[in-house]
Order: sequence, then structure tokens, then C-alpha cells
Amino acid sequence: MPPLPSFLRFQGPLAKLSPEDLRRLLLRGGAVDSRIAARVRELIASVQLDGDSALFEMARRFDGVSLSSLEVPRARCEEALAALEPSLARALSRAVRNIARAHEVQRPRAVEVETEPGVLVGRRPDPLGRVGVYAPGGRAVYPSSVLMGVVPAKVAGVGEVIVCSPPGRDGLPHPSVLAAAVLAGADRVFALGGAGAVAAMAYGTGSVPRVDRIVGPGNAYVAEAKLQVVGAVAIEAPAGPSEILVVADETANPEAVAREVLAQAEHDPDAACVVVALGDDVAEAIAEQVRSLSVSAKRREIVDAALGSRGAVLSVASLEEAWPFVADFAPEHLLLATAAPSVDLGRVRNAGTVFLGERSSVAYGDYMTGSNHVLPTAGLARAYSGLNLLDFYRWTTYQRVERAASAALADDVGLLADSEGLFAHAEAARAWRGA
Ligand code: NAD
Repeated sequence: MPPLPSFLRFQGPLAKLSPEDLRRLLLRGGAVDSRIAARVRELIASVQLDGDSALFEMARRFDGVSLSSLEVPRARCEEALAALEPSLARALSRAVRNIARAHEVQRPRAVEVETEPGVLVGRRPDPLGRVGVYAPGGRAVYPSSVLMGVVPAKVAGVGEVIVCSPPGRDGLPHPSVLAAAVLAGADRVFALGGAGAVAAMAYGTGSVPRVDRIVGPGNAYVAEAKLQVVGAVAIEAPAGPSEILVVADETANPEAVAREVLAQAEHDPDAACVVVALGDDVAEAIAEQVRSLSVSAKRREIVDAALGSRGAVLSVASLEEAWPFVADFAPEHLLLATAAPSVDLGRVRNAGTVFLGERSSVAYGDYMTGSNHVLPTAGLARAYSGLNLLDFYRWTTYQRVERAASAALADDVGLLADSEGLFAHAEAARAWRGA
């Protein structure tokens, strides 16, 4: 096989990757910069101590704006929607409908079981009381992230959904973010960014109510802040830089695969873009297309950095070789560019979300299919799932013990309690023996 273009970090047969290279490809979490962690700790502490005034100061420092109020009046959000380009409003509404449909079918059900005669055990899903959705807004604007957080929360019946997004120079989050908040059904919107927003939602301030769970993507400060406030509040699966893994056989269209690789690479210099191709010829054709398209990429600097640090086109002798690698890599996005993707789906373990056939572009999933785009990265798809309806519930379990069952349980429960040295437990149980 002739050498593949050298702009990719890894190339050649998967089986010949050195253990060190394989480790580098798989272990892509990357330790959090300790300076960011320390900075975030300080910012969180200042919000806990000074509340709103710390948030006003952060808006001045990081967003370059002097705010008169942290909350965006409802009327301003509705004005933003009214002024939105109608075609964009239509596209956002279409996404809202699809996200709602895709999440409605995930509704959990209460269950009850009699574990033995007269002993009833149940479990009931209760929507969370209040959820905070973070929509990033530093270097780009993400109305799509507003929809991905708010729509499922509303479908679940969460009591109140608030949105935080950094203010621009006019003191407000981007108009498309405000409009998306109205379309998705958010209850309140705050012009708040970064670690300050996360701390405010975790602990509450004079203006910002404390929430039960914070969801939504963000930069390193936001991600680190979310990890630091766990315990005071719940978060969803940690999400980091974007990833795509493509499995391609001889039926794949190399140019289409290359477009998908570039689409994820343009997110972040730390994005991970890997192709596993059946045979050297397919691998070579795809690598060539990636190289040629990357030259004209609009965000070329980011694309080149991503491909140079974590880009890979690897060949396998059979697809059987690909599936264990997919499970180990546990990608955020998996694209199956194969002859029978729906069949191959059965072989897949550990992917955030799967795209069946190259026509099912990852971009469709990012914006419009209705599937959630907030997904686990860095191999965490081994254990975590993408944001889904269940993230907006907590469960209440309960039990009822009938009279006869109570007498029947008393001795065994007393025995177990005695064996643990918890004598009051034993007495509480035995008291019902003859009652
Ligand atoms: P952001 O809203 O996450 O961050 C902006 C905020 O960062 C500012 O308001 C400020 O408070 C804080 N900040 C900036 N510089 C700081 C500093 N020096 N010290 C302390 N705080 C500081 O917006 P962004 O920066 O554009 O980042 C968006 C991120 O979200 C990107 O990494 C992108 O890849 C990611 N993203 C991920 C998904 C996903 O689903 N995984 C979707 C959309 C975006």
C-alpha cells in the first residue's frame, strides 16, 4: 500500500498500530488543565460568597459588558423570535417538533411488583422540579443546544426550565438563542456565561434560582465548573471535544466519508476523527479525499490541528476486526458507511449515537432528526448515554407490607439486623410479629 498522506496523525493497518499509538487513540480524555481547575474553583467560590454582584463582575471581565440585569425579560425573547428570519424560525420549529417526537416515545412508566405475598414494591418516575440548560455563546452561537436541552425537559414535564447563555456586547444572548428559548418553551432566560452561570444555577443567587440538574455543552471552563458543582446539583454525562468514528467498506463513497470527517474536525482542535476502512484501497481513497477537502476547509486551521493530533485512517482486513475497536473507542458519533448498516448496527457496542449509511449525515443528527446531540465523548459512551428523557426524572420507590406479610417478615428481618449489630432495627421488625 503506498504511504497515506502525512497530515493524519495515524495511518496504516489497524493491526499494525503500536500499543503506544493505540493507547493514544483510545485515551483521549486529556487531563483538565490545573490552571483552569483552580480558576474555576475561585469563580465558583466568588458566586457562593457574593451572588449577583460576582456575576455582574464576571460579565464585565469575560464578556466585556456592563449588565443592568441578569435576567432577560420575556418580552425581549419574544421580540427576538418575531424579528428572526422566517426561514430560520421555520427550521428551528421543525427541529423542535422532531426532538419532541423522538423524546416523547422515551417516556418512562411506573412499575409495581409483589415480591412475595403481601409485599408490594413500586417505583414511580417524577419529573425534576427545575432544570438549567447552558447554551454556549462565546465564539459561536448554539440555538440548537437550547432546543436539545429545553425540549426534552418540557416533554418530561419539568416544573421550570431556565436557560443561561453568555451576553454579547448589547447585554443579551444572541437573538437566535433567545428565539430558540421561546420556541422550545423555556420559562426564564439569563444573560450568563461560563463558570459563573454554572455556579449560579448550582447554588442560586438573588436573581438566579437554584436548579436540580444542569445540562448542556460548553467550553473548558463550563465543563470543569459542571464537574466541580456535582454534589450540590446533578449534571448529565460529561461532554468534551467532538468525535467521529467511521466504519467504511468497499461500497462507501470516499468523498461523503471525508465530508463527515471534516464536519467534526472543524469543531475543535482537539476533535477526534477516525476512519476504519475495509482494505488498503478504500483507506487510501478516503484519506486522499480528506486531504483534498481539508485544503479548502473554511475553518482550516482547526481542521488541520484536529487531523494532525487525532486524525486517523486505518485499514482492516475484515469488518470483524472493526467491531472490537469500535467498542474500545466508544465514539460520540459512529457512522456506518457499509453495504448493510442496519445489520451492522447489531454488532455495535458503546457508541453515543449511530448513523446508518453515509446519507444519514451526522449534521442531520446535530440539528434536525430529533435525536439528541448532547452526547458522551472521550470513550465515556462505554458507560454513559446521550442526553435523553430519563435525565429529566428522578425515581421515587415505595413499599407496602400487608398485615400477614408483616408477621412473616419479622423474624428474618430481626435475624439480619441482629447480625449487623443494629438492635433497634431488629426490635422495630419483631414488634410486628404478633400484631
Ligand atoms: P461558552 O459559552 O462555553 O464560553 C463562554 C464563557 O466562557 C464566557 O462567557 C466566560 O464566562 C467564560 N470564559 C471565557 N474566557 C474565560 C477565562 N479566561 N476565564 C474564565 N472564564 C472564561 O462558549 P465557547 O467558548 O464558544 O465554547 C463553546 C464550546 O461548546 C466549544 O468547545 C464547542 O465545541 C462546545 N460545543 C459542544 C457541543 C456538544 O454537543 N458536545 C455543542 C455545541 C458546542
